[in-house]
Amino acid sequence: MIPSKTLANGVSMPYLGLGVYKMTNPDETIQAIAKALEFGYRAVDTAALYYNEEEVGEAIRASGLSREELFITTKVWNADQGYDNTLRAFETSLKKLDLEYVDLYLTHWPVEEKFVDTYRAIERLYEQKLIRVPGVSNHHAHHLEKILSKANILPMVNQIELHPYLSQGELRAFCKENDIAVTAWSPLGRGGILQDETITKIAEEIGKTTAQVILRWHYQQDILSIPKSVTPSRIEENAQIFDFELSTQQISELNQLNRNQRFGKNPDNFKFDF
Ligand code: NDP
Repeated sequence: MIPSKTLANGVSMPYLGLGVYKMTNPDETIQAIAKALEFGYRAVDTAALYYNEEEVGEAIRASGLSREELFITTKVWNADQGYDNTLRAFETSLKKLDLEYVDLYLTHWPVEEKFVDTYRAIERLYEQKLIRVPGVSNHHAHHLEKILSKANILPMVNQIELHPYLSQGELRAFCKENDIAVTAWSPLGRGGILQDETITKIAEEIGKTTAQVILRWHYQQDILSIPKSVTPSRIEENAQIFDFELSTQQISELNQLNRNQRFGKNPDNFKFDF
């Protein structure tokens, strides 16, 4: 069983979900999601940008699981932001997913001059009960402050790049103060931190893999995560993190690995050219 976090409005969101970015081969995508659901995952993180919302819908329908058991996230892409465009983009995503509602809808990146209106549209979708949770992604505290000064309903999730090399302490504290749950994207640093010496040492100490140590580190700090894998054995391995615990000492060693290193873009320097 993958435990869930209770969000600001009482909705439960699984601590671990399958990320499907760069899954561009339809058969591989459907198989990866099917495996994940078989191994107990109930959350899938997609986006309009990933061009696989149709496959996500197909895989969840084929699973035979009831809609209420699942937690599906998608995002409005940068080129589609602004109030009216976001409402239109949502309709397209919903059609592609072939669902009646989405669990969590996010602004993908804070497009300058547009992200506040984009979020206002997400609020409207929430009021219309077309989404169960309103949220954002890649928002720094200064972006959130702008939204908080305008919003009637605060974002309940912020999905950001987060892993031991980029632990985002200040932003996490800001989100906590405002009851915004944090989801880690690239929770494994795109695979680039799996050979780290300290993480390897801890993995050997407790007889787990480095990926499991990292995902457990996220969980013990109340961070939701969405590791991506198309490899069945890894999809299974990544979900087996709820039957062991890292010690305070091990958590502290992992906390010391922060070097503010990004594998993706910094939202403040993102070139929104489309
Ligand atoms: P991850 O940190 O999840 O790393 C994925 C890479 O690690 C893949 O190459 C995968 O390989 C490999 N991997 C996964 N599990 C293991 C394991 N147990 N052992 C060894 N290697 C492993 O990076 P992503 O960038 O994919 O991020 C995850 C998700 O976050 C995305 O899929 C997407 O949903 C979301 N995301 C959101 C962004 C945003 O702007 N909001 C930006 C980027 C990502 P393989 O698949 O070959 O098994």
